[in-house]
Amino acid sequence: MLNIQSKLPGIGTTIFSVMSKLAAEHNAINLSQGFPDYPCDPKLTELVSKAMKDGFNQYAPMPGNPFLKETIAEKVEKLYRVKYNPDTEITITAGGTQAIFTALAAIINPGDEVIIFEPAYDCYAPTIKLLGGQVKTYELAPPNYDIDWDMVKKLFTSNTRMIILNSPQNPTGSILSEEDMKLLIKLVSGTDILILSDEVYEHLVYDEQKHTSVMLFPELKKRSFVIASFGKLLHATGWKLGYCLAPEPLTKEFRKVHQFNVFSVNSPMQQAIADYIKEPGNYSGIATFFEKKRDFFRGLLAESRFELLPCKGSYFQCASYSKISDEKDTDFSIRLIKEFGVATIPVSAFYQKATDHKIIRFCFAKENLTLESAAKKLKNV
Ligand code: PMP
Ligand code: GLN
Repeated sequence: MLNIQSKLPGIGTTIFSVMSKLAAEHNAINLSQGFPDYPCDPKLTELVSKAMKDGFNQYAPMPGNPFLKETIAEKVEKLYRVKYNPDTEITITAGGTQAIFTALAAIINPGDEVIIFEPAYDCYAPTIKLLGGQVKTYELAPPNYDIDWDMVKKLFTSNTRMIILNSPQNPTGSILSEEDMKLLIKLVSGTDILILSDEVYEHLVYDEQKHTSVMLFPELKKRSFVIASFGKLLHATGWKLGYCLAPEPLTKEFRKVHQFNVFSVNSPMQQAIADYIKEPGNYSGIATFFEKKRDFFRGLLAESRFELLPCKGSYFQCASYSKISDEKDTDFSIRLIKEFGVATIPVSAFYQKATDHKIIRFCFAKENLTLESAAKKLKNV
């Protein structure tokens, strides 16, 4: 028997694979893993065929297709009135996950501390640990998951290297406000603390609120890696393409890792995405589209015994089942699949200590018919 010393002892298979597999095995409606169950725009797939026919079939330049980087720079400037240089500050990645991994790998040395807010997207903590970093956790409390920045300050030590933000937040659907950003600026100004701002749901902000990106604040922009994902923007999570925006000194470090991590990413898709997002009309309706789905799904669940938490952004709706059962959320989710035919994500999976507030997460990026069929089953719970 080989003695393999695991670098991640105690880490099993990600909850998204576990729940999607269980959903398939039990023929349950899958509202667990976050992905649309409807096709992406056929215009987009046609543009991929065109790019292939046009010869975009060899390696793209290491930092990304120049046309795509320029198009992103234009999009960002139009949306946020902020400039990123496409040559030195934008890198195209194999999705948000690779961008997060690469940014962390570029920065985190053994012993460095990284502050994360839990419940947190599940790749942050294992990646930090893999790199020898220390995870410093701030646990947010339902139903609003607000951040008390004075408490965050208490986590600071001389080893604090980075803070990871995620707004809109997966799984809670909460968003950071301008006030949050101002308080954060007070904490980090005059320090060398960097920020990784996971903004993959930047377009999915509801109720006439605006996405408050770190890039809107120069004190934050200068120290931030901003992560985006085309999977969310284009309803095509399987394409695994995204990007990282960061000031030149940070991008330099990012690319040192990126070039040996993937070198460059899917070439015809980069060209197709650039052609597609060049036309803002192709994505400008996305917030309204998902807001309608949120309202539709919340309306359906209003007739159930689940208590809905606020959802200000993302395509996730959290709900408490504490009036239904006192089972552990993992047990409850499994029972929902087996007995009621609906797959969800137990929110304890987003806490390292498996903190269980009896809350589960639904993904509503689904056809209305899917949401209706799921709600019908959920009303029986
Ligand atoms: N961050 C968050 C908060 C996510 O929900 C996801 C997953 N969709 C990612 C990053 C990863 O994005 P991608 O699928 O582009 O790797
Ligand atoms: N981000 C998606 C979610 O939260 C899933 C991503 C994945 O499967 N790794 O459901």
